Amino acid sequence: MDRYAVIGHPVAHSKSPEIHAAFAAQTGEALVYERLLAPLDGFARAVRDFFAAGGKGLNVTVPFKLEAYALAAERSPRAESARAVNTLWMREGRLQGDNTDGAGLVADLKGHLACPLAGRRILLVGAGGAARGVLAPLLAEQPAELRLVNRSADKAVALGAAFGLPAGGLASAAGSRFDLVVNATAASLSDAAPDLPGGLYAPGALAYDMFYAARPTAFMRQAAADGASRQADGLGMLVEQAAEAFFVWRGRRPETAPVLARLRERLQREGANA
Ligand code: NDP
Repeated sequence: MDRYAVIGHPVAHSKSPEIHAAFAAQTGEALVYERLLAPLDGFARAVRDFFAAGGKGLNVTVPFKLEAYALAAERSPRAESARAVNTLWMREGRLQGDNTDGAGLVADLKGHLACPLAGRRILLVGAGGAARGVLAPLLAEQPAELRLVNRSADKAVALGAAFGLPAGGLASAAGSRFDLVVNATAASLSDAAPDLPGGLYAPGALAYDMFYAARPTAFMRQAAADGASRQADGLGMLVEQAAEAFFVWRGRRPETAPVLARLRERLQREGANA
């Protein structure tokens, strides 16, 4: 059977094995998908060993996406734009790198959440790896406006300049309204919300947190209090970025809706038992 894995540190929490097992069962692809814990100083060796032993593909998670970018001999345009790699495989003995996070976000927004992007006003909060990875795919959807804000204004300004976008500190979003606000900060990891000004949400707007949890995140609660009509977390993005990686590796597009529904159900059950 073809071997795949998610590589990270930590990696025990990863839902990727469950997602890819569901995709494989659904499409009839013969593969196994495991978790691979790499030492913090041993990512490159772990990747080489995996492929030397006949492994077919890796998903890369925290904190190795930048190292994976550096390690890949050839990279897709979206990996170049993100300057990070979350999907690796071999072609003719050369390590290939791609980034499916942005495609995953766009697919979740347009597909599961029926949130059109063309002609819409979008605010992206954060200037780390996740924000960088979704900028080009969001821009390709031709929004009317894409504005970037971050706690450290200088990082937003540097990232905005690289993509020709208006950018600033969190407070610089004040006075504007958006159809979509995407939280790409790591604040949710500590159940905090970025310190955003109020009045950000246009009628019918969606607040989207890339983080996911059994219960609404601090950002989702903040958005509801600020009048956002809808709030969503990043579980759909997780499933969609996995589906895109599965397509890159296997050339098959799995159906994501049933996998997402099952994952959501399990997450909520775990949350209720916590
Ligand atoms: P990084 O560490 O690269 O970026 C961190 C960002 O969060 C920076 O912009 C930082 O601002 C900001 N930040 C951290 N804490 C706070 C806070 N308390 N208030 C305001 N801003 C804060 O992380 P990533 O970009 O890799 O990940 C960001 C999030 O996206 C994570 O929650 C991750 O789980 C999620 N993610 C989800 C995916 C999915 O498939 N659903 C895929 C990839 C990521 P500053 O520059 O000022 O420090």
